[in-house]
Amino acid sequence: MASGQEQQHYEFSAGPGVVPGEVKAEIAANLVDFEGHVGRSIMEMSHRGETVTRVADEAEATLRALLHVPDSHAILFMQGGGTAQFAAVPLNLVGRSAAAPVRADYAVTGTWTVASAKEAGKYVAVHECVNVQKSAGRFVAVPPQSAWAPTPADAAYLYYTDNETVSGVEFSWVPTVTGATELVCDMSSNFLSRPVDVARFGVIYAGAQKNCGIAGLTIVIVKKSLLGRHRADTPTVLEYKITDEKKSMLNTPPVFAIYVAGLVFKWVQRQGGVAAMEQRAKERSAALYGAIDASGGFYVAPVEPSARSRMNVVFRIKHGDEALERLFVAEAEAAGLHTLEGHRSVGGLRASLYNAMPMEGVNALLDFMARFRAKHA
Ligand code: PMP
Repeated sequence: MASGQEQQHYEFSAGPGVVPGEVKAEIAANLVDFEGHVGRSIMEMSHRGETVTRVADEAEATLRALLHVPDSHAILFMQGGGTAQFAAVPLNLVGRSAAAPVRADYAVTGTWTVASAKEAGKYVAVHECVNVQKSAGRFVAVPPQSAWAPTPADAAYLYYTDNETVSGVEFSWVPTVTGATELVCDMSSNFLSRPVDVARFGVIYAGAQKNCGIAGLTIVIVKKSLLGRHRADTPTVLEYKITDEKKSMLNTPPVFAIYVAGLVFKWVQRQGGVAAMEQRAKERSAALYGAIDASGGFYVAPVEPSARSRMNVVFRIKHGDEALERLFVAEAEAAGLHTLEGHRSVGGLRASLYNAMPMEGVNALLDFMARFRAKHA
């Protein structure tokens, strides 16, 4: 690279994650004078006004089209991130039988399901049908549902995390539920990265800051027939039914984050929709895992191929040479490849390859990894 100015920068952070360049340019062009409103920025407009109402309606309609969300399901724009949903899910789904202890089933495949099950435990009796943490060998995998403990018949819902962001473990299939048990999924870190049959789910939720823009907005897709099942003591801001009734404008919403999400949804549409996102995710992650597997043990991916995340590629150097990993992160940073350190709870390395990561970013990382390996093997 001839000069610092010409250096490319790629953001591999697990979240907040990369935002499409086109979207950032659109935001910049409209930041001060919003879409021709001279002197008026969307940051300052009332959420009850015509412009913000239109922006929010459009964002919702675009998302509905992208994921083919059926009329049976409502789309809610909430706040509090995935963490608020850890509580909102049990609070909204177990109210009907408040007198009796109510059960929920959790398929624990990593850190975020551990956290959500712990929070749910304040409100429901938690059953764990599987716990990958406990059964983990050196290579983490997701056992097939036939190997899980059966979901108790009285479980209000079966909960799973489609993509575990910390350990880089992703489902390649959708669990099944029977009877009155609803399927609930945390799609925070792989939302909009592949088609999904929304009709199968009671609740899908995702924080926006990975695949649809910036932090502050949480997207909840909920089966309308479940609205009204909340416990009487559910905090109003966490209640799905009133959020739906108030068209996600119960209180001041995160207007700017909704605006950005709407731009990202349109960007996904222009790219060819979620099928195109899936194709790109496969290409990016296959290239990176391929290089790791071909490195003769210098780089090691600790997840079974069947459960490897397409979004968060977790790897180690020489099975955990921490000094070399620190050097890798520092040298990568200097080369414009940002935030490649693993989650603080597990260490190692992690390259997050969200929808907006261009293949050029992956290729730049592969070049760097080859150079680093040649120096340190
Ligand atoms: N679920 C998953 C899969 C996540 O990756 C995260 C955050 N990285 C959360 C939940 C928590 O989300 P938030 O920080 O938005 O509360």
